[in-house]
Amino acid sequence: MRYSEGWRPLNVAIVGGGIGGMSAAIALRRAGHQVTIYEKNDFAGEVGASVSCAANGTRWLHEWDVDIAKGDPVVLKKLINRDWKTGEPVSVYDLADYEERWGYVYNMFHRQKMHFMLKESALAEEGKGAPAVLKLNHRCSSIDLETNVIDFENGYSAKHDLIVGADGIGSVVRGILGITPERRPSDQSCLHANVDADEAAKLGLANYSDDSALEYWGGQEGKWDKIVLSPCNGGKLLSYYCFFPREQGDNTNQTWGAEGRPVEDLLKPYPALDRQVFNHLAIGKEIQPWRLWVHDPYPYLSKKNVCLLGDAGHPMMPHQSQGACMAIEDAAALGILFSKNAFNGNVEQTLEAYQLVRLPRATRVQAAAAKAAYNINERIGFSCNKNTATYKVEDPKNILTIEEMNAYDMYSDVNEKLARIAGIEYDDNYVSGLPVGLELPNGVTIGAKL
Ligand SMILES: Cc1cc2nc3c(=O)[nH]c(=O)nc-3n(C[C@H](O)[C@H](O)[C@H](O)COP(=O)(O)OP(=O)(O)OC[C@H]3O[C@@H](n4cnc5c(N)ncnc54)[C@H](O)[C@@H]3O)c2cc1C
Repeated sequence: MRYSEGWRPLNVAIVGGGIGGMSAAIALRRAGHQVTIYEKNDFAGEVGASVSCAANGTRWLHEWDVDIAKGDPVVLKKLINRDWKTGEPVSVYDLADYEERWGYVYNMFHRQKMHFMLKESALAEEGKGAPAVLKLNHRCSSIDLETNVIDFENGYSAKHDLIVGADGIGSVVRGILGITPERRPSDQSCLHANVDADEAAKLGLANYSDDSALEYWGGQEGKWDKIVLSPCNGGKLLSYYCFFPREQGDNTNQTWGAEGRPVEDLLKPYPALDRQVFNHLAIGKEIQPWRLWVHDPYPYLSKKNVCLLGDAGHPMMPHQSQGACMAIEDAAALGILFSKNAFNGNVEQTLEAYQLVRLPRATRVQAAAAKAAYNINERIGFSCNKNTATYKVEDPKNILTIEEMNAYDMYSDVNEKLARIAGIEYDDNYVSGLPVGLELPNGVTIGAKL
């Protein structure tokens, strides 16, 4: 099926040069468009932490010929949930056959390295399509939805055919599209700390690097306390996300990037925590607050020739480790929709299809991430470990599973949604990108009558 009559190269603006913005630049340059990225900052002096990139994100890095080695990832072998007090494993999800099953590995990156890797791909002379142009210190202040002119605080303005708002959780573009988030501070707070794996080893502390695993302490019994350890930088850095009830410390209005917090703040909520991981936290550095706001799903993702992508369009709690993957998937959807095979020259209509493809999937992950905040059994992977003694989920038929994330075929989903918009019958054996007949571990069979 071809929808491509009328394809034309577009002059695209991407507002925000984070993980999502860089990914969109790669996807759209490869689709034949001229891309300019406008970023409010200069990327200097960022303190970073780990970012998860499961197979549903990694597949696009391969498809886009991104040099993944530049991101110096750790390839995950397991997800381990440990007892809060003893550190003994409670639930383990083995990823030994993950690449074999899904075709791609589960990467754990340091955000700055991942960002650098994507930026290189977006801006490089080599590679498919024209290199994207990056304009730093350009903070978008307004967009005229009728003329497509963007104004920046530095006085610069520019007109584009397509404008992608990839400006993160505090998105200005979202407000310009008329979306006012229904949001509330989470009942959970988070401090992040980095631990140098060599330093921990010299002190004779537990050697978690060897596990190549995402490791969780707690997260059971409806409690907000949880420690998440993710190794990155080839295993040399251990990135700790430390969650606790908000009443024990409110970071709602704190910003990431200010001077680091004292280690006492990090240790205070955890008197009963397994001493092995507690001793790691005691040598934690660059301790930063992570603001946690719960956003209800937004009603739409695009208006006229402007769309939202990544955290700007569907900010989520970090508990499914899918924030970056969802931004990458958004970018992939734009790349496919604006490709020579699909784009018919009508930007507004193509963005309607983008919204039909992206909104249901991203908001499903968003809802599952909020649930996993206080119940780790809702987390993709653990959600299928039904033999765990403490296993309990809100709705067994609605758990989010690895199958749903990784068996997804975006090309089919795009074709289905384009067909719907064009009023053409869609006859492929897929429903919203999942193959008809696929039995999900939650008991749902794709395409079966309910
Ligand atoms: C500095 C920083 C550090 C982060 N560190 C981590 C981490 O360690 N671990 C993790 O899991 N997640 C981290 N995140 C969040 C994570 O990157 C995102 O959740 C995810 O990758 C989705 O990316 P995004 O591109 O939608 O949003 P973001 O990564 O937040 O990127 C948004 C970009 O838009 C820019 N921007 C904002 N407003 C404007 C404007 N008005 N005009 C122009 N540009 C604008 C921002 O400076 C930023 O570069 C971090 C985000 C930032 C900005």
